[in-house]
Amino acid sequence: MRIGAHLSIAKGLSDAGRQTLAIGGDTFGFHTRNPRGSAARQIGAEEIVAWRAMQQESGIGPLVGHLPYVINLATPKDGIREFGERVVGEDLRRCDAFAAHAIVLHPGHDTEGDRPAAMARIVTHLSAALAAAGAVGTLLLLETMAGQTGEVGATPAEIGALLAGTGRPAGLGVCLDSCHLFSAGYDLTTRAGIDAMLAEMDAAFGLDRVKALHLNDSKFPRGSHKDRHEKLGQGELGRQGIAAVLQHPFLRELPMIIETPVDDYREYAGEIAIARELAG
Ligand SMILES: [Zn+2]
Repeated sequence: MRIGAHLSIAKGLSDAGRQTLAIGGDTFGFHTRNPRGSAARQIGAEEIVAWRAMQQESGIGPLVGHLPYVINLATPKDGIREFGERVVGEDLRRCDAFAAHAIVLHPGHDTEGDRPAAMARIVTHLSAALAAAGAVGTLLLLETMAGQTGEVGATPAEIGALLAGTGRPAGLGVCLDSCHLFSAGYDLTTRAGIDAMLAEMDAAFGLDRVKALHLNDSKFPRGSHKDRHEKLGQGELGRQGIAAVLQHPFLRELPMIIETPVDDYREYAGEIAIARELAG
């Protein structure tokens, strides 16, 4: 099992590495830049050299970043789509410079109620961003969403259609989120429920495309279509649900990032400890 928490790299990659060791993590997640804005911190060669040395010694990884929430490749507003396309391309290159495993993107918001047009716009800009990034080792992962109003990507079929639309490039994959999938309606509390969901995903886009998992409990019940994370074992998935996810032979092999609500990163030590306990 490779598990860690979503941390800040504002003070440098090695700082997030030290935090990871302090909370008992194997890896970490991070925002590729300010999650609600456009400013990108320059991650310089010196920082990367220091981080790679630390990574070599500690074995921390594989790192899974998250793109800003303000990106919406589905919007009819040209400027917003172009901004998103540029950031996705730039951040693939920025994160490839320190050999991040993947960065995660919310597929988009259909604000007009015209799903085919929204999907077509996402496909166009995903393709352009991947082309602009060029040959990078860092994967771009589309996240499975809870299905809040307008949210694209709450069904395997939609994620599959986006992958198919782009011609399934090798650098494009999928990141699962246990909270989102549960609120989208999947029963993650039993092995049978998870198996049924994974069979649907395998048919829609192929399980080999799944490259990471956001491990979160859900504040709201199954099928609520609400995206509100809760601490592990304290939400509607509960200890049974989190245990079912962690003990599943396919899911437990994925790099897992915890994004539960905490006041301070040190609280993630408890979250990671619970995950290790429930993983059996
Ligand atoms: Zn996300």
